[in-house]
Amino acid sequence: MKRQKRILVTGAGGFIGHHLVQRLKADGHWVRGIDIKSPEYEVSAADEFDLLDLRRFDNALLSTRGGVHEVYNLAADMGGIGYITSFHADIARNNTLINVNMLEASRQNRIGRYLFSSSACVYAQGKQQDTNVTALREQDAYPADPEPGYGWEKLFAEQMCKYYSCDYGFPTRIVRFHNVYGPLGTYEGGKEKAPAAICRKVALADNKGQIEVWGDGLQTRSFMYVSDCVEGLIRLMASDFQEPLNLGTSELVSINGLVDTVCEIAGKQLTKVHNLGGPQGVRGRNSDNTLLCQVLGWEPKVRLNEGLALTYKWIEGELRKQPSATSQVCGVAA
Ligand code: NAD
Repeated sequence: MKRQKRILVTGAGGFIGHHLVQRLKADGHWVRGIDIKSPEYEVSAADEFDLLDLRRFDNALLSTRGGVHEVYNLAADMGGIGYITSFHADIARNNTLINVNMLEASRQNRIGRYLFSSSACVYAQGKQQDTNVTALREQDAYPADPEPGYGWEKLFAEQMCKYYSCDYGFPTRIVRFHNVYGPLGTYEGGKEKAPAAICRKVALADNKGQIEVWGDGLQTRSFMYVSDCVEGLIRLMASDFQEPLNLGTSELVSINGLVDTVCEIAGKQLTKVHNLGGPQGVRGRNSDNTLLCQVLGWEPKVRLNEGLALTYKWIEGELRKQPSATSQVCGVAA
């Protein structure tokens, strides 16, 4: 039997954090969740869930108290491309405070292992100008030219982890997520990411109607289902690897392709209306999983159409629960 650990998950009220807490509990661990908000769609499985703002150092100290073995630091001010391109100062300031506080509090409270959730937004923008992108290797983050605001902060926080590791021997892990999606993630309100936004738009559209797509839709990405994300996190934490590591799929798809897949799942035919002024981020981005496979002996497995079917079903169900939206969710396949 595996040893039960005491584990802290920050951002436990958010999408990935909530799923991670569920998995860690299912694996038999004691879990503390911290966030400024409770999970939106169901109750947390955490043994203890505290509402604390980690921009304050005293709260970071409180969160890491009591013999915690491992910290998964997932708390961040973040959202989809529309959100992260609109609030550079707030996002950079909030996330700098969270990450600096969590590192120092974790060191002072002698945490056994600390994992920082970085992002593919750290990669140099100049290497992502082609839709047929060469998949990004970990070294492609330098020379540095990351996404303004959100990406620069992530890159700096990665460096902070390395400094803590070198100067204090503090054991850090750094994961670079490529777009994560799945049920129980934000799907409306401005912070939603592309897969959730597209599922919502398709669910609300009349068959043979229209769907707005930001950009020309030729921009490409890879998308990882949340159960793979959680599996990768646990494997990385258990490994001895301290350098940044990609965690994503290498299944490249255009945004137009993503829309087509969701339409097929929903059984709808929609005409795409491209909003060329909409935010769209880099032109192409994919994950090179060579190092991931070497280090973890594993890579994400869930195919995009399988994961999207589960996500669409959940979002469509949520929309049906909203009195104002019920009448708008039209002709959806089961
Ligand atoms: P999310 O927004 O659902 O979760 C983040 C949580 O952090 C939220 O619940 C939020 O309330 C909480 N938070 C924000 N400010 C806080 C504060 N001051 N104190 C305490 N909690 C605070 O996002 P997610 O998709 O679950 O992402 C988790 C982590 O993974 C983040 O660090 C994010 O930057 C990173 N990431 C996610 C993706 C993705 O595709 N979802 C991609 C790259 C990186």
